[in-house]
Amino acid sequence: NRRIVLAARPKGEPRISDFRLETVAVAEPADGQVLLEILYLSLDPYMRGRMSAAKSYARPVEIGEVMEGGTVARVIASRHPDFGKGDIVCSYSGWQSLAISDGSDLRKLDPSLAPPSTALGVLGMPGFTAYSGLLTIGKPAAGETVVVAAASGAVGSAVGQIARIKGARAVGIAGGPEKCAFARDELGFDAVVDHRAGNLAEQLADACPDGIDVYFENVGGAVWGAVFPLLNEFARIPVCGLIAHYNDEGTAPSGPDRLPGLMRAILTKSLTIRGFIQREFADQRPAFYREATEWLASGKLRYKEDIVDGLENAPDAFIGLLKGRNFGKLVVRVAA
Ligand code: NDP
Repeated sequence: NRRIVLAARPKGEPRISDFRLETVAVAEPADGQVLLEILYLSLDPYMRGRMSAAKSYARPVEIGEVMEGGTVARVIASRHPDFGKGDIVCSYSGWQSLAISDGSDLRKLDPSLAPPSTALGVLGMPGFTAYSGLLTIGKPAAGETVVVAAASGAVGSAVGQIARIKGARAVGIAGGPEKCAFARDELGFDAVVDHRAGNLAEQLADACPDGIDVYFENVGGAVWGAVFPLLNEFARIPVCGLIAHYNDEGTAPSGPDRLPGLMRAILTKSLTIRGFIQREFADQRPAFYREATEWLASGKLRYKEDIVDGLENAPDAFIGLLKGRNFGKLVVRVAA
């Protein structure tokens, strides 16, 4: 078994030396277990949090432990009544090529419905994050303006398209002309703004002539700064992620104290700012799988994957994810 373990806790941006590739023997599955061959590994921004010892909503990966992660795998040996050799499953096996599972993390996939790798993206955790956060907290109504950044990525691409399915106007923010063109021309965003082109505040104001009713927060940083003045009365802000800050060290920010201004806007504009971790909405998963599979089949929901070959390339790809080097849902092809 080839596996990547956490070698050191990163300071700021993760480095290749924070990871270590190991080769170890793998046990035979015991009664009630299956042996999995990992086909695809999902790389997601939350993994930066797991590398840190700081208190968060999930326990950190310890030094020397296999990096956690969602995977798509093939059952290659089974002593579990519900899974047979050859089954394709979604699992939570981490950054490795083989894994033992007791079945509790497994969900059988039907490869005739969609390519199995989509279980890590548009039909998996990121797609569900978009669906549950947008519909439960954002509640976009027809004609309203919904803004989302990282718009070509796994979560943001689904947010914009689901907003449009609900009749809202979707405005995307993405880094660079290629991602912007993709969001507009392939995903159908009504307007797209390039946050790397400068003048973000002005560009965004032009793209949102009626203000912003729903801001799906993926990044924080300068994007939040540009969005904030444009928020309408009763705007809803599902706080999903703050990727611009994941590599920040725990030092106090310099500059003026912006908290009183934020609190004043929450009060005077009656804003709803609500954080969430997708698993909170787990009871909505069956509805999501059903609806998203239909939307995918009918072409209303499109997606892009950024596939990197080889488990050994996962650390470099992950470092790039935090800087916007990925273009679409980042997946490592481990086997397949
Ligand atoms: P993406 O596929 O969107 O990849 C990350 C993207 O973030 C990059 O490609 C880049 O896009 C953008 N980005 C990085 N740094 C910055 C920055 N400083 N300013 C603006 N944009 C930046 O990742 P995901 O779709 O998987 O995740 C999107 C967000 O959703 C993350 O914050 C993640 O943590 C969060 N999330 C939250 C969950 C929850 O349960 N709350 C579950 C899943 C994800 P570009 O080049 O276009 O700027």
